[in-house]
Amino acid sequence: KKKPLPKPKWMHATIPGGSKYTAIKAKLRELNLHTVCEEAKCPNLGECWSGGETGTATATVMILGDTCTRGCRFCNVKTSAHPPAPDPNEPSNVAEAIASWGLDYVVITSVDRDDLPDQGSGHFAETIQNLKSLKPNILIEALVPDFRGNSHFVKKVAKAGLDVFAHNIETVEELQRFVRDHRANFKQSLDVLKMAKEYAPMGTLTKTSIMLGCGETLEEVVRTMEKVKEAGVDVMTFGQYMRPSKRHMPVSEYVTPEAFEEYRALGMEMGFRYVASGPMVRSSYKAGEYYIKSMLE
Ligand code: SF4
Ligand code: SF4
Repeated sequence: KKKPLPKPKWMHATIPGGSKYTAIKAKLRELNLHTVCEEAKCPNLGECWSGGETGTATATVMILGDTCTRGCRFCNVKTSAHPPAPDPNEPSNVAEAIASWGLDYVVITSVDRDDLPDQGSGHFAETIQNLKSLKPNILIEALVPDFRGNSHFVKKVAKAGLDVFAHNIETVEELQRFVRDHRANFKQSLDVLKMAKEYAPMGTLTKTSIMLGCGETLEEVVRTMEKVKEAGVDVMTFGQYMRPSKRHMPVSEYVTPEAFEEYRALGMEMGFRYVASGPMVRSSYKAGEYYIKSMLE
C-alpha cells in the first residue's frame, strides 16, 4: 500500500480566528445560515469574508440541507438516498439572512438532491429571486448540481436573476468516473453549462472548476480546457485536490505553484474571461474579484 504524499510547503493552511470572525460566526448561527467556508474549514475564509484586496466580501452559503444523494470520492458531505425534505421557508429565510449580512458577492450552492422531483432547482430559483428583490445590487453566483441535465431545471435557475451560473466538472474527462458519483459525467455537465449560457440573459457569466492532483496528465487538462471553452464557459478555476479523510481517494500529486500559473496563462491565452489557478484556490475563491474585473474589461 502506498504511503500518502507529504504535504509540500506551499500548501499552508491558516486557521481563521480573531474577534471579527467570532462575531460573524455568532451572527450566522442566529441567522441559521450554513456556509461552505466554515464547514470545509476553508483556508481563505479570513480573506473572503473581509473582502481581501478589492474590498468585495464573499461567502458561500448552502441551501437544501447538509445531506447529499450522491457520493463522490473526493467529497466529505454526508450522504443518504432519502435526505430530510427541504424547508419550504428556506428560500425566503436564507435570502433575508444574506441580505442582512452585508456581503457584496454571495455564492449559493447545495448538495445534489436526486430525490426531489425538481432536483432542487425551484429552491435555487426562489432563493435567488427573493435575494435580488431584497438587495438588488448584491452579486449572486449559483453553484448548482447538474440537475441530471434537465433543460427545464437549468432554465429555471439561469433565468432567476443570477449574475454567474457555475457548475463544476471537477476533473478531466478521462477521470470522471473514478472521481465523481456515477450519476455525474463530463458530457452532462458540459451540456448544463452550454444550456445555461443559452438561457441566461446576456452578460451572465458561466463558470466551472476542476481539482488537480487526481492523477490527470497535462494533455488531459489542456483537452478538457478546450472542451470547456467550446461550451462557451467564461470563467475557469483550478485548485489542488486535498483528501478530506482516509476514506477518500488519495492525492496523486501536489501540483506546483509554477504549473498552476502555466494553466492560468494558458487559459487566458485560450480566451477565458478570467482564470483563477493556484494550490489554495477554491471554486469560490475571490469570486467577487474576478466578476468585477471581467465586467470592467
Ligand atoms: Fe468561502 Fe469559497 Fe472563500 Fe473558501 S474560497 S472562504 S469556501 S467563499
Ligand atoms: Fe459532494 Fe457534490 Fe458529489 Fe454530493 S454531488 S457528494 S455534494 S461533490
